[in-house]
This record gives sequence, C-alpha cells and structure tokens, in this order.
Amino acid sequence: MSEPRIGVYVCECGINIGAQVDVPEVVRFVRRLPNVTVARENKYTCSETGQSLIKEDIEAFDLNRVVVASCSPRMHETTFQMAVADAGLNPYYFAMANIREHVSWVVPDKAQATAKAKRLISSAVHRVKYQSALEPRQEPVTQAAMIIGGGIAGIQAALTIAEAGYPVYLVEREPSIGGHMADLDKTFPTLDCSV
Ligand SMILES: Cc1cc2nc3c(=O)[nH]c(=O)nc-3n(C[C@H](O)[C@H](O)[C@H](O)COP(=O)(O)OP(=O)(O)OC[C@H]3O[C@@H](n4cnc5c(N)ncnc54)[C@H](O)[C@@H]3O)c2cc1C
Repeated sequence: MSEPRIGVYVCECGINIGAQVDVPEVVRFVRRLPNVTVARENKYTCSETGQSLIKEDIEAFDLNRVVVASCSPRMHETTFQMAVADAGLNPYYFAMANIREHVSWVVPDKAQATAKAKRLISSAVHRVKYQSALEPRQEPVTQAAMIIGGGIAGIQAALTIAEAGYPVYLVEREPSIGGHMADLDKTFPTLDCSV
C-alpha cells in the first residue's frame, strides 16, 4: 500500500456547523494529524465549488484518501464518493465525519463541540488509512427468503415478503409458531388479543 496522502475538508454548512464549532481551530488541528497532506475549510463542501476543490486537490496533491467532515453520511456520502470517483480515486477511499447531527446540532457548548469535532475527524482520518478499494460486482441471487424464527416478527416479515411476491420459508424450532406472543393473553397498550 502506498503511503496515505489524505485530504480533509471541514464544512461549515453555513451557520449549521460554523456557528457552533470553531472550524478554523479544527482545521489547524487536522493539519497536524499524521498523513494529512491538505486540510481546508469550506462554507458548503457539498456545493459544486466544494466538490471541484476536492477533485482539484486529488490531482494537485496526489491524494489517495479523502475525508469530509460535514453532515450525516445519509445526506451526502454518495455525493462525495462520486466526486472522489470523478477524480479517478476509488470511492471507498473516502470517509465521512458527521460533525453536524452528531456535534453542532446536539452539543450546546462551543468548546466541547469543537473538541468533539476534532475527535470524530481524527477517528475518520485514522480509519480511512485502513480502507480498501472496492469494486461493485453483480452476483445471481435466489429470489426467495428464509426466515429463522416464527415469532411475531418472523411471521410479519414472512407475510410482507410473500405479499411482495417472493417465496418464503419460515423455519421454527418449536412445534408451533407464535413465539412469546403465543404465551400471552392480552397485550399492552391496546389490550388486543395476542393470538
Ligand atoms: C411476559 C411478557 C409480556 C409481554 N407483554 C407485551 C405486551 O403487553 N405488549 C407488547 O407489545 N409486547 C409484549 N411483550 C413483548 C413481545 O411478546 C415480544 O416483543 C415479541 O413477542 C417478540 O417477538 P419476536 O418475533 O421478535 O421474538 P419471539 O417471540 O421470541 O420469537 C422468536 C421465535 O424464534 C424461534 N427461534 C429462536 N431460535 C431459533 C432457531 N435457531 N431456529 C428456529 N427457530 C428459532 C423461537 O422458538 C421463537 O418462536 C411481552 C413479552 C413478555 C415475555
């Protein structure tokens, strides 16, 4: 494995992060972490400008890993993976630190929020070093499901999958299905009959 050369982008997300986390201080901290080649702050890293900067840096600094510290990966992980891939880097050489939902939106004290942002980004920087390049592939799959356990959860899952048109095999180790529900008479909170 070639020596990690990591680019780190700390997003202000407007005032979402910028008002609650001392982003310039975080960037100064990140620049001192091992293997960090470049660290920058952005107003909106997810913008076209923010993404272009990452792509330009990958080329200019020969980066082989990228970390973005911004919002939840549910929001923009794919956005940044695509940007990284556009620049010719495997998209799995990317890690995200969530310093919005996990920090600025929930930590009321600015000093504590800044300290937590540093810890999360430091973790992401260390983690990304150990990530591998992955390639998507397609495999034939059996279009059926086997569910282990015929409790209420297994029964409901079996019904949902069957209603979607797939064969289901429900495997239960006891002589009858129902699990714990079958032992109960009425259930909280509706006091419905459980069987
Ligand atoms: C005393 C009591 C009172 C409760 N009261 C309420 C209430 O009032 N309201 C409410 O909403 N919830 C209540 N609950 C909770 C509710 O019963 C459970 O949340 C629910 O039954 C869990 O369903 P389940 O399908 O996830 O698991 P389970 O009911 O535990 O079903 C799991 C099934 O998997 C089977 N199984 C396990 N391992 C294997 C294996 N290796 N191979 C094959 N089969 C396997 C078991 O035999 C079982 O049938 C109560 C629970 C208890 C114990």
